[in-house]
Amino acid sequence: MKKIALVTGGTRGIGGGIARRLKEAGYRVAANYHKDVAAAQKFHAETAIPIFSWDVSDYESCARGVEDVCAMMEGSIDILINNAGITRDGMLHKMEPSSWQLVLDTNLTSVFNMCRLVIGPMREKKFGRIINMSSVNGVKGQIGQSNYSATKAGIIGFTKSLALESASRGITVNAVAPGYISTDMTDAIREDVREKIVAGIPMGRFGKIDEIAQAVLYLVDENASYVTGITLNINGGQYL
Ligand code: NDP
Repeated sequence: MKKIALVTGGTRGIGGGIARRLKEAGYRVAANYHKDVAAAQKFHAETAIPIFSWDVSDYESCARGVEDVCAMMEGSIDILINNAGITRDGMLHKMEPSSWQLVLDTNLTSVFNMCRLVIGPMREKKFGRIINMSSVNGVKGQIGQSNYSATKAGIIGFTKSLALESASRGITVNAVAPGYISTDMTDAIREDVREKIVAGIPMGRFGKIDEIAQAVLYLVDENASYVTGITLNINGGQYL
């Protein structure tokens, strides 16, 4: 039976690329999204991958979502890609508590929510692959991103702990920390800021979605069974 993979934030950007690659590789894929119905419908029309809307920051919403995915796919989730994430940038001295909380809930609590819901069945099956999307800015920090960097660094600690808890059960848990990748998220960066960022990347360019998807494809493979608790940095050679 083909493995079932769920990608959160999986209908556009990096998550969309991962979902497409997983489907091409033969997995049975489901994609979650939040509010961008038009993007999700376009993705579904192009890929025939089933799409499910829920808010990853809300535990009950995740529980309903996972139940719906398992019912449609007729099985429990073997591979979870926690990819959904947002930014609400600002210098800390101007940051509203609401921006802090929204980013914490969406990027970090979401990872707890989703892992908590899939880990039991994975432990029973003695198989699982979990990939948590961190970021270069969680590893090295970034001006205006104390909220975002805190979540992405938090994901690394969470990943290491869950990897230890799961190691004896055939479940691997790894983080991927992309550098700057061309998506809607980075399209929002001001041109002058973008030029400064590119100047600091040894490869002199933003990364491509496929350069992340390819790494995820490796980490979820059944044969990547001895790789757990790592953070794979994919960032064009940025010093960390
Ligand atoms: P995009 O902004 O292009 O897409 C974000 C995705 O997350 C969308 O599908 C969005 O859904 C979904 N999402 C956002 N909030 C929620 C929510 N509350 N519930 C469910 N889904 C939600 O992001 P990217 O593709 O650029 O980034 C993907 C991940 O990679 C993020 O975790 C990001 O932090 C990380 N990353 C990105 C980098 C980059 O350079 N792009 C660099 C390093 C890390 P909807 O379509 O409905 O809005």
